[in-house]
Amino acid sequence: MPFDLAARLTERRAASLYRQRPLLESPQGPLVRVDGRELLAFCSNDYLGLANHPQVIEAWRAGAVCWGVGGGASHLVIGHSTPHHELEEALAEFTGRPRALLFSTGYMANLGAVTALLEQGDTVLEDRLNHASLLDAGLLSGARFSRYLHNDAASLSTRLDKATGNTLVVSDGVFSMDGDLADLPALCAAAKTKGAWVMVDDAHGFGPLGATGGGIVEHFGLGQDDVQVLVGTLGKAFGTAGAFVAGSEELIETLVQFARPYIYTTSQPPALACATLKSLELLRSEHWRREHLNALIKRFREGARAMGLELMDSATPIQPILIGDSARAMRLSQLLRERGLLVTAIRPPTVPAGSARLRVTLSAAHSSAQLELLLEALAECWTLLEHGDA
Ligand SMILES: *Cc1c(COP(=O)(O)O)cnc(C)c1O
Repeated sequence: MPFDLAARLTERRAASLYRQRPLLESPQGPLVRVDGRELLAFCSNDYLGLANHPQVIEAWRAGAVCWGVGGGASHLVIGHSTPHHELEEALAEFTGRPRALLFSTGYMANLGAVTALLEQGDTVLEDRLNHASLLDAGLLSGARFSRYLHNDAASLSTRLDKATGNTLVVSDGVFSMDGDLADLPALCAAAKTKGAWVMVDDAHGFGPLGATGGGIVEHFGLGQDDVQVLVGTLGKAFGTAGAFVAGSEELIETLVQFARPYIYTTSQPPALACATLKSLELLRSEHWRREHLNALIKRFREGARAMGLELMDSATPIQPILIGDSARAMRLSQLLRERGLLVTAIRPPTVPAGSARLRVTLSAAHSSAQLELLLEALAECWTLLEHGDA
């Protein structure tokens, strides 16, 4: 049978699920130019405002002069250069773990870690709202794959009772579409009683969470005995690109030997590692970024609640407004855009059916005045949407 791609695309459009890529014509920041218009954006993951930071840019430039622009080969051949090595050592020190291993993307770090640790006969247990890369990794591993109820240690425990072989519990640290924190103390305790390991993907926690930006494990005061496999991504609060896995000497050596997405890919440009070394330094030392961000989060929640918007249980820069219906979420996003604000609607299958939402994300780069503009526009657009005359 021939491929009927047109029918698939038509069906997606009819379901209000069609995706389009806005064209960004400026650097990342609160004020962007998108598809020919200046907009105030509340949708990037650049939580600390480092993606366009002059010192990070300068570190990248200097790195390119020193090391060239390409990684040149995989890490195991001749692509593992001094900046990569220094960044790994700095990330190990930052996370308080013996070693860290650099990956090209978070997607690959997750695929690499899960598939290197598990095989047929083992068990992988995942939160049902985990990031797609973690779910894909679980399926690809060949281990028995089961999803527990969101953030529910009791639901995890019943699955742990039936687990066979090596068992890995896998969770987002901060859930990327909801903004809530994994209940790691409870999940780790459940895993520990059964001798299972815990892997946490803290893509959205590193930077905003913890006293020094060390993410959810720092927030809860947990260590390597609780979370054996800790993943961070560098494309969010770090403002650059790539990812890392931190853990024991043996864990990292296992990944070097067996993680296919680590082995069979070109190393990231060394100059990028130079840039990330600088952003790590800023992330750790410039506490005012976290403090300002937390003040914005608090103010947003007060303002949004006061106008009756349905927020989620989130104390993080991810502040979704739950709408439910995909077409309504799209409409609200469109109304905001007409007023110069960019806030993305997130629809199934990225989120469960019937839970379309506007995913507001806040950044330390936003000013308090910009946040007030968002609240004012939301109040106006929400009224239009509620009264159906939108
Ligand atoms: C963004 C994200 C990833 C993917 O990281 P990339 O470096 O963008 O590939 C993985 N996990 C979570 C939870 C994420 O939010």
